Amino acid sequence: MAVLDQLTSQQAIDLENKYGAHNYHPLPVVLHRGEGVYVWDVEGKKYYDFLSAYSAVNQGHCHPKIVNAMTQQAQTLTLTSRAFYNDMLGKYEKFASEYFNFDKLLPMNTGAEAVETALKICRKWAYEVKGIPENDAEIIVCENNFHGRTTTIISFSNDPVARQNFGPYTEGFIKIEYDNLQALEDALKANKNVAGFLVEPIQGEAGVYVPSENYLSKAKALCEQYNVLFIADEVQTGIARTGRLLATCGNCSCSNKNCSGTPEVKPDLLILGKALSGGAYPVSAVLANDPIMNVIKPGNHGSTFGGNPIAAAVAIAALEVVRDERLAENAYELGELFRSEMNRYIERSSIVKLVRGKGLLNAIVINDDEESDTAWNICLALRDHGLLAKPTHGNIIRFAPPLVMNKEQLLDCVSIITTTLKAFEI
Ligand SMILES: *Cc1c(COP(=O)(O)O)cnc(C)c1O
Repeated sequence: MAVLDQLTSQQAIDLENKYGAHNYHPLPVVLHRGEGVYVWDVEGKKYYDFLSAYSAVNQGHCHPKIVNAMTQQAQTLTLTSRAFYNDMLGKYEKFASEYFNFDKLLPMNTGAEAVETALKICRKWAYEVKGIPENDAEIIVCENNFHGRTTTIISFSNDPVARQNFGPYTEGFIKIEYDNLQALEDALKANKNVAGFLVEPIQGEAGVYVPSENYLSKAKALCEQYNVLFIADEVQTGIARTGRLLATCGNCSCSNKNCSGTPEVKPDLLILGKALSGGAYPVSAVLANDPIMNVIKPGNHGSTFGGNPIAAAVAIAALEVVRDERLAENAYELGELFRSEMNRYIERSSIVKLVRGKGLLNAIVINDDEESDTAWNICLALRDHGLLAKPTHGNIIRFAPPLVMNKEQLLDCVSIITTTLKAFEI
């Protein structure tokens, strides 16, 4: 087999199995091409993408504006490292800081790196500004969190598969129940050395758990009361996914009318990744205002690729697409439609318990125990009917299409999903 020969699906799967580490369990479908809300497998079969690479491809596959920015920049200058300045990074930092209404941005590549960066900034702020004794800072996190895969991040995960046999674990984290303000207040009261509270505005990987209405704003108020940094991990929820530019959406510059009247929360540290590049390139960032970001001095932190010219060009284009194509508004409207259509089905269903989510970050819960393979089998059947989704935990299926979808396509997808589910009704 020559390297450039077109593979069959089975050949591609066999190669990954033989030569790749087995750190994932993919749905058996081998994709070759993507455009907008669609992907095609190597045999030419077309699918709706209902995962969007875990919400990285919010702007749709191979968005021409993003691809153009990337290829233009790739032909001009790709990487200088931060040993020298380049003429793209400052432009991007200004653009993104103003876009999200923060003083400064620190560029990284992956979501996990950006989370690590936020934890480091938070600790340094705690020692140098808040005055916590050295090495005593604690950061409050939530049960069932997902913040990435580094040694420190998995140290405060409670997923045994992600954690087991990767110890010894990093200290300095306090775990509390998600969506529980009393637990947060108790933890803040009981520990005088709390530096920050790290939270996902919606717990995506855990199964799209949407907290109660005022949870985030009240948690933020508690953080202010105890002089603790509110750290929002919006790697999955950010960039229009939940029907607003950010799920916390603290007086950012978007013009989404759906924001008005909902509680606004301005994080002290905002963590972004995934759709920051529209899925074209690994781009992540932490944003903060000067009194916090300025604790970082030359040599304290960095990354060879972080803030490279391609990343900068791609991220500007990706954020322009979100604004120009009104993706937050579209996600809001299609999300309402999706949940109401699904709820109509669920009324008469015994196999689906419920649908939940915000904007186009949704999940259905299958009426079966967590260890059953019903959700997996439903995803295989959805694939056969031309729609790709994947179970998150056990019996939960996440539905997160690209935000460039239109109403007609969404209704087509609802029809595929309900038709597929019907075959599983008992
Ligand atoms: C995906 C994700 C991360 C990790 O991002 P990577 O780019 O995979 O390192 C962190 N936090 C949340 C909420 C995520 O969804």
